[in-house]
Amino acid sequence: MAPTPENRFVCVHGHFYQPPREDPWTGKIPRQPSAGEYHDWNERIARECYIPNGRARIANNKNETLAYINNYSFMSFNFGPTLLNWFEEAHPAEYKRLLTADRESASRLEGHGNAIAQAYNHMIMPLANARDKVTQVRWGLADFRYRYHRDPEAMWLPETAVDSETLRVLIGHGLKYAILSPHQAKHVRRAGVTKWSDVTGATLDTRRPYRWTDHESKAHRSIGLFFYDGALSQAVAFGKLMASSPKAADRVAAEFEDDSRADQLVSLATDGETFGHHEKFAEMGLAHLLRFELPSRHIQPVNYGFFLAKHRTTWEAEIRENSSWSCAHGVNRWKGGCDCGSEGKSTAWRKVLREALDWLRDELADIAEAETNRLVRDFWEVRDDYSDVLLDPSDENVELFCRRRMILDPIPETRKALLRMLECQKYAMFMYTSCAWFFSHIDGIEAVQNLMYAARAIELAEETGLADDLESGFLQRLKGAAPSPGSQLKDGEAVYRHLARPSRQRQAA
Ligand SMILES: [Zn+2]
Repeated sequence: MAPTPENRFVCVHGHFYQPPREDPWTGKIPRQPSAGEYHDWNERIARECYIPNGRARIANNKNETLAYINNYSFMSFNFGPTLLNWFEEAHPAEYKRLLTADRESASRLEGHGNAIAQAYNHMIMPLANARDKVTQVRWGLADFRYRYHRDPEAMWLPETAVDSETLRVLIGHGLKYAILSPHQAKHVRRAGVTKWSDVTGATLDTRRPYRWTDHESKAHRSIGLFFYDGALSQAVAFGKLMASSPKAADRVAAEFEDDSRADQLVSLATDGETFGHHEKFAEMGLAHLLRFELPSRHIQPVNYGFFLAKHRTTWEAEIRENSSWSCAHGVNRWKGGCDCGSEGKSTAWRKVLREALDWLRDELADIAEAETNRLVRDFWEVRDDYSDVLLDPSDENVELFCRRRMILDPIPETRKALLRMLECQKYAMFMYTSCAWFFSHIDGIEAVQNLMYAARAIELAEETGLADDLESGFLQRLKGAAPSPGSQLKDGEAVYRHLARPSRQRQAA
C-alpha cells in the first residue's frame, strides 16, 4: 500500500557549535588570523552560517528574492551555550531569531519547540567523571531555560558520545530523548520479545524511536533514543546534497518504507555549519527543501519531541558503550588510541593531554574542597548552581548567590575565596572542551585554548596558597606530548609555556 500523506515525517537536526574562544584573563576573543578576513572564528561562522540560516533567501530562477525563511523554525537545532553567550552580545537581533523560531515551532507542533539543549562546554561525556557529567547537564539546562523560557526535551551530547552513566544523568534530569548515530545501537527488540537482535549502522531501522531502559534503577526508568539516518546524513554533510533541493527531497522520500501504514520519521543530523560554512548556499537549499520540496511530496518537517509525543515507543535498544559519531573506535579520538583526524601525524599526544588534565582535575578538586569546606555545606552542589552567576554576573546577583549558599554571612574575603574556586572549576571544565583532541596536533588553536584554561585554573588555585607544585606537576605530565612535525616546540610542556602561558604573564604585567 502506498504511503498516505499523513504518515511521513522528516526531522533535520543541526548541531551549531564553536568551542569557547575567549581569553580566560580578558574575557575577550583575540584576533585569530586563521579566520581570514574576519576577526575570529565565531564571527566568521556567524556570518557564513548562523546568521544566513536565520534568514535564508528563497529565489526564483531569475534570482529574484521571493522570501526569507528562518530555517530554525523548521529544523531541530541546538546551539552551544558558550557560543550563544557570545552570539547574544555580538548579534542580538540575529540571536532573537533563534528564540522566535523556537516559539513559532512550538505553536505549530503542539507545544514542541525546535531548540534542544547541549551539555555545557562540549565535553566528551563518557570520558568525564560523574561529577562533571552532572554539572555539564545542569549548566546546559540552566542556560537553555534562561534563553528559551521553557524546559528542553533533549540535550545534545557532544560528538553524540554516550555511555550508560550519561543516559542515567539525562533521565535523572527529566530529559525525554537523545539523538545518536545509527552505529551506536548495539541491539534492538520489540517490546515483549525477550531475544535481542544485533544491529549495525546499516541494518538498524532508523524510522522509529527506541527506548533505552536503565535496568539498574528500581523503577526501570527510561529515555527515548532517535538514531538518525546515517547514509542520508552523510550525503548532506559530505555529499553536497543541498546543492539541489529537488534531488534532496527525492532522496529523503526514498528512505520511507512504501508499504508501511505506520507513521515513519526519516531524520538526519549533522553539524549545522554544513549549511553555509562548509557548503556555501546550503542554507538556501535547506530552506527550499523544508518549505517547498518536502511538503509538495507530502512529507512534513517536524521535530523529535513532536514525533515522540505522538507515538508509543514499541521498540527497545541498547547502546554501544563509549561510542560517538565521529570516531569509529568509540571515544579514542579524544583520549588516544586511534588515528581519526590524524592527517598522517602521530596522535600519541592525545593520551598524554587527557591524562595530564585528569591529574590536574583531581588536584583542583582537592584544593577546592579544602579551600571551601568552612564556607559552604557541599561545594559540588554550589558548583552545579554556579550557572546562575554565569548567566547573570551582576554584582547584585553575585551577592545574592553567595548569601544563599554560604554557611556564614559572607564577608569580602570569604566571598572572594568561594568565587575564586568556582571560577577555577569553570576552567577545570573548559579545559576538557572536546575540540582540542579532534584535530591532528597539540599546538593547534583548539588544544592551546584548553591549555590556556588549564593555566588559568592553575593560577586561581595557586592564589589559595594550597597549590605549590601544581603547575610543575602538570608540566611534568605534558612532556611526553609531541607537537606537529616542523614545530619549533619540542613537546606539550613547551606548547604550554610558549603558547598558553604567555597570556597569563601579559595579564600579570
Ligand atoms: Zn577513531
